[in-house]
Amino acid sequence: MALIVQKYGGTSVGSVERIQAVAEKVKAAKDRGNQVVVVVSAMSGQTNRLIALAHEINAEGDPREMDVLISTGEQVTIALLSMALQRIGCPARSYTGGQVHILTDSAHSKARIQDIDGARVQADLEAGRVVVVAGFQGVDQQGDITTLGRGGSDTTAVAMAAALKADECQIYTDVDGVYTTDPRIEPKARRLERITFEEMLEMASLGSKVLQIRAVEFAGKYNVPLRVLSSFEEGEGTLITFEEESMEQAKISGIAFNRDEAKLTILGVPDHPGVAYQILGPISDANIEVDMIVQNIAADTSTTDFTFTVHRNDYKKALGILQATAESLGAREALGDDTMVKISIVGVGMRSHAGIASQMFEALSSEGININMISTSEIKISVVVDEKYLELGVRTLHEAFSLDSEAAN
Ligand code: ASP
Ligand code: MG
Repeated sequence: MALIVQKYGGTSVGSVERIQAVAEKVKAAKDRGNQVVVVVSAMSGQTNRLIALAHEINAEGDPREMDVLISTGEQVTIALLSMALQRIGCPARSYTGGQVHILTDSAHSKARIQDIDGARVQADLEAGRVVVVAGFQGVDQQGDITTLGRGGSDTTAVAMAAALKADECQIYTDVDGVYTTDPRIEPKARRLERITFEEMLEMASLGSKVLQIRAVEFAGKYNVPLRVLSSFEEGEGTLITFEEESMEQAKISGIAFNRDEAKLTILGVPDHPGVAYQILGPISDANIEVDMIVQNIAADTSTTDFTFTVHRNDYKKALGILQATAESLGAREALGDDTMVKISIVGVGMRSHAGIASQMFEALSSEGININMISTSEIKISVVVDEKYLELGVRTLHEAFSLDSEAAN
């Protein structure tokens, strides 16, 4: 008998009919001889509605009260799903995060899970019940309700799977798996049968929002086999696994992108030790996250040009800071551009294939796409380009690395 944790997101439980459909799927899994724990999100839109209500009263609501409020969406869906299961003859019981001792730290709205006591859930499973657990929420040492950050139900599911040593954690969502790239940009994008945790983390941090990043990290750390699949269609979905030595890797598994890039440059900075710190120190003091960084020495070697990227939302603030820095350092000029995007190719296969970078640059140049910045890691190469090249860039790379052909998987 296998123990499976299934997680259904907000869209999957967005109406009474959908909750009933989820109940049928859960019952089917149980009837196949599995023990099943289900984690659910709030009905789609509900968490946003609750946040909007709070904002009508106080734009900066007390974090503790915010968590009391926004955790309620999930309490609705656990009860409704349990009722729907009972209705079709499947014994079930619902639990809030606190009731199954999902113990977290006290960081309201972004709490981290520290411990889960699986005893109560185990007892229910052994008694033949399906256990339905509220996603997104826990309690701290004081017994105060906490939430895990937007999209946090994924993390609840993975943490439950880890605590119960489940055989698989299945994340049901409105897409049928992880794709080689966003099908809205490249209709030839393909569902991947498997992807490694490392690749998935890169894809997620680059903006493929299939799974919450923390959930992937958690699953990787605790060896929880994770599968992403559709709640509306039958299918195998995508299995997120560890890299296998024997697995013949495609060079590249996917193309990720991020639309919200802004580039800032400070020109003609007198070059001496400590310059990078003097430029980026004030940026990080303002809590602005810097992504790519490039420094080049000018021909006369006495000055340097320094370029970095930030999120578009932080662009104006960062530019103001940089202009002040330019003045105090006696640099020539500070300027920027907030119409940039980042496109990345991701794949563990890069480790064993040479020449991937030049293949990427060749493909982009053949379409006349100018690269502004480049950064590389062991399993990823990213370029920053003008936003008008996003679609073209993604499609060009998708084709260049044969991601639309079956052979690539
Ligand atoms: N209901 C929460 C949210 O909307 C948690 C989740 O959906 O995973 O962020
Ligand atoms: Mg969600």
